[in-house]
Parts: sequence; C-alpha cells; structure tokens
Amino acid sequence: MTGRFDCAVIGAGVMGCATALFLARGGMRVVLLDRGPICRQASGVNAGTLTMQMTRAALIPYALRAWEMWMRAPEWLDGGDVLARARHGLSVAFTEQEAALLEERARARRAAGAPIELVGPARAREIEPGLNPSVRLAGHCPIDGFASAYLTGRAFRAALLNAGVDLREGRAVEGIDPGFVLRTAAGPIPAARIVLAGGVWLEPMAAWLGVRLPIKTLVNQVVVTERQPRVMSTVLGVASGLLSLKQYENGTVLIGGGWQGIGDRENGPIAVRPDSFLGNVRLAAYTIPALREARVARGWLGLEAQTADALPAVGPVPGAGGAWMIGGVHSGYTSGPYLGRLLAQAMLGQAPEMELFPIDRLLHKETA
Ligand SMILES: Cc1cc2nc3c(=O)[nH]c(=O)nc-3n(C[C@H](O)[C@H](O)[C@H](O)COP(=O)(O)OP(=O)(O)OC[C@H]3O[C@@H](n4cnc5c(N)ncnc54)[C@H](O)[C@@H]3O)c2cc1C
Repeated sequence: MTGRFDCAVIGAGVMGCATALFLARGGMRVVLLDRGPICRQASGVNAGTLTMQMTRAALIPYALRAWEMWMRAPEWLDGGDVLARARHGLSVAFTEQEAALLEERARARRAAGAPIELVGPARAREIEPGLNPSVRLAGHCPIDGFASAYLTGRAFRAALLNAGVDLREGRAVEGIDPGFVLRTAAGPIPAARIVLAGGVWLEPMAAWLGVRLPIKTLVNQVVVTERQPRVMSTVLGVASGLLSLKQYENGTVLIGGGWQGIGDRENGPIAVRPDSFLGNVRLAAYTIPALREARVARGWLGLEAQTADALPAVGPVPGAGGAWMIGGVHSGYTSGPYLGRLLAQAMLGQAPEMELFPIDRLLHKETA
C-alpha cells in the first residue's frame, strides 16, 4: 500500500522525468508512471540535436537555459550522462528562397537571444569544410550540439530513484477518477495533484479530465550510417528545417529533419516511407558530399507531439484545479529539462524563473 502521493506524474519521457525529479527534490512525494520503459518513446528515439536553429523564437530563452543543463547533465543527474557535446551549428541555404527564409528566421531567433550570425559561403566552408560549395548563405550559431537520446532513460533513472521518486514502468494509467485517483491494472493510485506528460498521448490524457486539447502527431524518421572517417564537425541543418545532421564520436552520422513515415497515435510508428527515406538521405549527401560514400546502417521512426502553435503546453489544466500538463512543443528534447524544472517550481509554490505556457490558448473551442 502506497498511500496518497503528493503528485502523480503520468508519462516518463524527458518532460515527465524532469518534472518528477525537481518536484521530488523540492520535497514532494512523487510517483512517476509509464506504460512502457522510461524514455522509450520520443525521448529515447529522437535525433538528439540540442539546437537553437530549430527552436521557435519564443522558446529561445528557455532553450538556451536547457542547453546549459544538458551540457552539465551529470551534475544534476547524479552522474547520469547523455553524452551531450557542444558543437558549432550551421543552418544552410542553397537557393534564393531558402536564403530569404534563413534571414527571416535568424533575425527572429537573434532578437530572442540566440547568438546566430549570417555568414557567406567562404566563412561557412571555413567552419564546415565538408559543406557543399554551392551553399549561398548560412546561419552560424556557436551554441549547438547533440546528445545520445537513447541514454536519456538510463541517465534519469538513477537520479529519480536517488530523489525518492517511486518509478513505475510498465504501468499504464487507464483513466482518472474523481479526487485524482489513477486507474491502473494493478489498482488505484491516489494523488493530491497530477501532471499529464504523455507526449502525443496528451490529447487522450486531457480528455480524462473533460478537456479537449488538439495535439498533432508527427511520425518522424531518423537514419544512421555505419561508422566512417570524419566527414563533418558541426551540427548541420537546412533553412527549410528538413535536415539535421551530425557525426558522433564513434563515426556514425545521424540524419534527421522530420521526414515523415507511416503511423499514428493509436498504432505507433508503422513503416518508413521509401520516398521520405530517399529524400532524407539525398539531402544529407547533397549537403555533405562525402556522405555519398556512406552506407546506411538503419532507420527508425518516433512520434513527436505538437500543439497548434508548436509552442509548449506547460501549466495548470484549465478548470481542473490540481492538474498540470507539460509537453507538445516542437523539438522538445532540447528544452525538456528546463521546462520540467519551471513547472516544478510553479507547482512547489515558487515563482518560476520564466513564464509558463498557458494551456487556454490551445483548447478546442466549439464554433457556432
Ligand atoms: C524521431 C524524432 C526525432 C526528434 N528529434 C529531435 C531533436 O533532434 N531535437 C529535439 O529537441 N527534439 C527532437 N524531437 C522531439 C522530442 O523527442 C520530443 O519533443 C520530446 O522527447 C517529448 O518528450 P515528452 O516527454 O513530452 O514525450 P515522450 O517522450 O513521448 O513521453 C511520453 C510518455 O508517456 C507515456 N504514456 C503515454 N500514455 C500513457 C498512459 N496511458 N499511461 C502511462 N504512460 C503513458 C509514453 O509511454 C511515453 O513514455 C524528435 C522527436 C522524434 C519522434
């Protein structure tokens, strides 16, 4: 018998794990439940890019703080490591249209605090000599990098247990009865407050509370090459956002960028689309020509959640006092730890360092 928890966090991705960790460190008795293993959905299969160049301008101040947290992960994860590495980042434009897009996005992100400067082809190829010479313009950000996302769960697990979080993996929550009593196959779990942290499953979770929150499901593809000699040292993207590329220390190159596969929230990721696969690797090999010689080791898919404005849903659930929510942001791996810390601050009654992202703006409104 566990008694009543101060807080039940439902969903052990990066958002739920970070929230649970900082709540427990703030003195709450926390249970963290996931229907599968910790960080095995989006938070364990993503491309691991920790970047300002893919982050929406309004989120840049948060992502900058989150980037710092990732780079110092072993300090606040009790030695847990996601092998975060700081690198220079380049977002490149090959066409006039991409150059215009790049200028506009770089301006907005710079205004929000990201140290992005526009550089011409010569400087871009000085920073990344392997880059295709046909590059016209690049956004250069010295604060970029990557982590190994599949290490996220292992890195969080020890810190969560040290902080006293009751971590229950393989424990699906089936619904919520009045008074925040969680329904599970192993019996009811009562809590004084709850946090919904379900990634793409935030929408059905919100429905448990009678709240209609539309969440878009993206079926993102990632491809990894076999190990090979060094072909690049930066984190590379293209202005359209359809590429993220980096080479790990073991020589493998990870190719992402949100090309879509087949799947949905109900059935999970089902299959890679051949045209997406080819489009993704061709763009990578165009951007870094040495990749034409690379051999693909494998590709996989994961489900990314996105709210209507691609900004986070972080805050109290309207009309459901004691229920909170976190997630739904584009490129949420980068900002996850900081958003979790902010939510925990608010729930602990402290003034959060930065504003949360109210849920009201996202709720489905019936039209007459
Ligand atoms: C392929 C891919 C590549 C990406 N690349 C990047 C990138 O390079 N950089 C970046 O910043 N972001 C990237 N993202 C986005 C990033 O991964 C997500 O924004 C982030 O991981 C979301 O974390 P989360 O905790 O909200 O969701 P998740 O990690 O999906 O966690 C939600 C958890 O809820 C659990 N759950 C659901 N229903 C229940 C239930 N009923 N009971 C109990 N548990 C439940 C699930 O099992 C899951 O573990 C990528 C995403 C994908 C899919």
